Amino acid sequence: MTRFRPGRNGFEQFGEGPLELAADVCVIGGGAGGASTACALTEAGLTVVLLEEGRNWRPQQFQPTASWAFKHLYAGRGTRATRGNCVIPLAGGRGVGGSTLINSAICFRTPEPVLTDWRENHGCEHFDTAWMDACFARIWSTIGVTVNPPEFQRENNRIFKQGADALGLDGKWMARSAPGCTGCGTCNQGCPTGGKLTVDRSFLQLALDTGRVGVYGDCRVEGVETDGGRVVAVTGRTVEPKGYTDAGTFRVKADRFVVCGGAVGSPRFLRANGLASGVVGQNLRIHPTSYALARFDQEIVPWHGVTQGYYVDMWDQGFLLQTFSMPPDQYYLSVPLPGDEGLAVMRDLRHFASGGVVIHDEDSVGHVGSSELVYWLGDQDRRRLLAGVRQVARVYFAAGATEVIAGIHGVPKLRSVDDIDRYILDDIPAVELGLYASHPMGTCRMGADAATSVVDPAGRVWGWDNLHVADASVFPTSLGVNPQVTVMAMGLTIGREVARAMNPD
Ligand SMILES: Cc1cc2nc3c(=O)[nH]c(=O)nc-3n(C[C@H](O)[C@H](O)[C@H](O)COP(=O)(O)OP(=O)(O)OC[C@H]3O[C@@H](n4cnc5c(N)ncnc54)[C@H](O)[C@@H]3O)c2cc1C
Repeated sequence: MTRFRPGRNGFEQFGEGPLELAADVCVIGGGAGGASTACALTEAGLTVVLLEEGRNWRPQQFQPTASWAFKHLYAGRGTRATRGNCVIPLAGGRGVGGSTLINSAICFRTPEPVLTDWRENHGCEHFDTAWMDACFARIWSTIGVTVNPPEFQRENNRIFKQGADALGLDGKWMARSAPGCTGCGTCNQGCPTGGKLTVDRSFLQLALDTGRVGVYGDCRVEGVETDGGRVVAVTGRTVEPKGYTDAGTFRVKADRFVVCGGAVGSPRFLRANGLASGVVGQNLRIHPTSYALARFDQEIVPWHGVTQGYYVDMWDQGFLLQTFSMPPDQYYLSVPLPGDEGLAVMRDLRHFASGGVVIHDEDSVGHVGSSELVYWLGDQDRRRLLAGVRQVARVYFAAGATEVIAGIHGVPKLRSVDDIDRYILDDIPAVELGLYASHPMGTCRMGADAATSVVDPAGRVWGWDNLHVADASVFPTSLGVNPQVTVMAMGLTIGREVARAMNPD
């Protein structure tokens, strides 16, 4: 058994034969939860091996095309989707940095009513206001949260602000973890300038600076060895990074294990190894989104500028409006018009702006199965999405749009404000909505009752002495705001609790 090698390791360093490692704590998954947990553990003086299925990347390696990014940075090569009464692509990241490698860097504190609900109804006693304030301050400085200047926002964001201002809506530039952003618009393909502070370059770098963490990319964890109520080791396969085929094997021994595979990976790992039953994988929440495109006489060039820069706060009604942008090839997939009409929009794309609605899912029902992802969009959630699309259309007409294309199949182009209520009717079924999601949560929910939750209020898996979960899967409910900051707060909190359990003094 070799002690781990501090620093970043990957396939090229593994050499011949099985990899055998040991540390105080083994963290499984290198995303927002894994990196912040590793930071808390190493700062408490513990040694950590962090295992991540994807690669260690440098910003200069990222290529700004969807095909490159899907292959190298996206779970399931970008094909992951939920099925139920509609199909919803469910994006997720893979690599040291996890989904932060491909996220839009939007930062929101956990809404206070959500934290109150978690404390009062889900036993989340560790998330008191003073501690969470300290977490948010730490996160803000570590990932460089800032509002990017207007010259980098460019037209897609500015035109939405113009419409929101004209309607007197509560809109703001979004705070983002991208202090060096220059508005190249490729956040979702990996930030090529390093202007976005992903967790591999922020929280994990702090852990690396202690010399107490070995980060092992190209390592997919599959199995466990147990002894009574304790996990003794995890095992898995190293991944050859060109074709992503299996290479060698590894085994990591530790005193404690923290699973941070995200809301899809964590429940699958726990269930495949018989480590949790009952509600594991249930309670999937995803913050579904829908959208509208709007044509303006002037050029917008929507793929230039901050990827998602402006929002309107309608949280009290169950949703936020947020701008978004994509590379041109991705826009084609989001034009719900027949062939020639769709191609005409693509030829004219420089004149279009894009904005969407993200909802706080409440009456939808979903779960993560061993291979399938199931999500049934609830009736109230469907209505919230429709209300949000109507509001996006109103914003665009207020900004001077000549036409609006709702992301809904069967709805004709809207030519005026009156068309919004004429065509976007409340009885449009879920299957007609153009939907997307990238915020899976809740599938190993935290709670005070072992019958209805997977982990206890300190993040420990019920029934196990030394097995914990610290990622988006432990959220008891959805948030209604973009989740990365809350995931990092989970990592800092559960990391602190794991360290306390190991060093009770
Ligand atoms: C396209 C996109 C845009 C987003 N934009 C924003 C945004 O602007 N703001 C915001 O707040 N949130 C955003 N999010 C969501 C946010 O990034 C996630 O909520 C957050 O990163 C989740 O953290 P996590 O630790 O739960 O999972 P992840 O960050 O997804 O990390 C999980 C990691 O575990 C690894 N893993 C899984 N299983 C195993 C295994 N068996 N062995 C080894 N490794 C494993 C995965 O490869 C992955 O790297 C976005 C997400 C996406 C996909």
